[in-house]
Amino acid sequence: MTQKADVVVIGGGPGGYEAAIRAAQLGLSVICIERRIHKGKPALGGTCLNVGCIPSKALLDSSHKYHDLKAGYAKHGIQFGEVSIDIAAMQARKDKVVDTLTGGIAGLLKGNGITWLQGSGKLLAGKRVEFTPHEGEIEVIEAGSVILASGSKPIEIPVAPLVDDLIVDSTGALEFTSVPARLGVIGAGVIGLELGSVWSRLGSEVVVLEALDVFLAAADRAIAKETQKTLTKQGLDIRLSARVTGAKVVDGKVHVTYQDAAGEHSEVFDRLIVAVGRRPVTAGLLSVDSGVSLDERGFVHVDGQCRASVPGVYAIGDLVRGPMLAHKAMEEGVMAAELIAGHHARFNYDLVISVIYTHPEVAWVGLSEERAKAEGFDVKTGQFAFAVNGRALAADDNAGFVKFVADSKTDRLLGMHVIGPGAGDMIHQGLIAMEFGASVEDLQLMCFAHPTLSEVVHEAALAVDGRAIHAIQRKRK
Ligand code: FAD
Ligand code: AMP
Repeated sequence: MTQKADVVVIGGGPGGYEAAIRAAQLGLSVICIERRIHKGKPALGGTCLNVGCIPSKALLDSSHKYHDLKAGYAKHGIQFGEVSIDIAAMQARKDKVVDTLTGGIAGLLKGNGITWLQGSGKLLAGKRVEFTPHEGEIEVIEAGSVILASGSKPIEIPVAPLVDDLIVDSTGALEFTSVPARLGVIGAGVIGLELGSVWSRLGSEVVVLEALDVFLAAADRAIAKETQKTLTKQGLDIRLSARVTGAKVVDGKVHVTYQDAAGEHSEVFDRLIVAVGRRPVTAGLLSVDSGVSLDERGFVHVDGQCRASVPGVYAIGDLVRGPMLAHKAMEEGVMAAELIAGHHARFNYDLVISVIYTHPEVAWVGLSEERAKAEGFDVKTGQFAFAVNGRALAADDNAGFVKFVADSKTDRLLGMHVIGPGAGDMIHQGLIAMEFGASVEDLQLMCFAHPTLSEVVHEAALAVDGRAIHAIQRKRK
């Protein structure tokens, strides 16, 4: 039997399912092929909902609550008894959050008239897609257009092969059934820091081994420095210039060797998380004659609007260049669907927000001070701390600061950088301002509500011109 559809989407992660929904909204017939089986059940939502953004945030929130309670509320005048932890219950709550959301996506596809085929898709020549169901016969679907959205998977390194629940990738690190006394993490990227924080808050002694000599290389240096200081104070032992050279299990313990400037070192951990990055999933996705080419790093090659090398074939999300982030995948999915429907569509790759969901959160959008200078801008900056913000003090959550980077010639905002309470939400103020081409003065002239955390945004904008009210500023204007 040959099925036909205006659009076939391969992959039902955030990129794929959003592309499918938008295409259906635009009146196209859509098939979405997703093969994931999560905890015994077919599941939509991809890495993000099943083993990425959502379960990690569920554990970050649970572990934060536990850590907060453990630290005590005596100064708030709140007393309570012994605080204890039930990891099985914490994991069950996380699983329920995942189930609710993945079930919701299934409902959204159904409600939009999208056919979800459970199994694997492969692009053949001529915009035909071979579908191999989990059970039953292989069939070929004729597609008007195809959106490839097969996502990514954790990189495995030969020096640290995975072993059961002892040497694990990010997926395994979301499933620990007990708190390891000593936990090693390879890689101080976003995933390593978030997962390291979860288990550190729950009581693990955490050592993070990072090969690079700079911490959070993509972040503004002021933010990276403050983040490293804060996480170290929280108990994460972050060792830079530490390249792991071997990891193996001996008598139930993980023995790790690493190299730094001082020579070879060894450590023994109860568990080890390998968080050294992710790579695109292309195995089995393309027939040899599909005509779709990959770039030198193994990503599907696309133009600025996600068109692959075959007309009518698009590729989005973690499968293509750019940051591996769910919101980037989602917007690319929407863009691809709109282009297929004949609409005008664009995506502003200059303004993709980065968030690290530690506590405090870390977030940025646009150019760092260093990047702006490297691009030739005559840069001015302003910074303001949460330390003296009334709302942050009232909440006893007042670490960090907001920093703006602007062009001193035009006053245009170039970047916003936050470490502090609610940074992941607060950063959208910078996104909106920059999307509208705001100047620093635009922010300075606005009336921010009092008392709010956002007043720090206002003060940071004022600080760019030496006008912050709740600070003694040396600059005068
Ligand atoms: P995926 O979500 O990987 O989905 C692709 C889907 O395609 C998969 O479900 C796969 O089963 C399916 N598939 C693959 N090949 C085929 C095939 N041939 N046939 C059928 N189906 C196929 N991003 C954020 O923005 N914020 C976060 O806080 C965040 N936290 C993260 C935490 C962790 C621990 C991890 C691992 C990732 C996190 N990410 C986060 C990254 C985010 O999950 C990814 O960027 C996002 O899921 C990419 O979406 P995608 O649709 O491109 O691919
Ligand atoms: P990210 O790509 O942001 O998820 O971060 C992964 C991090 O892992 C990068 O900063 C890499 O430098 C780091 N990394 C990769 N291989 C090793 C290794 N063998 N030892 C230590 N760190 C590593």
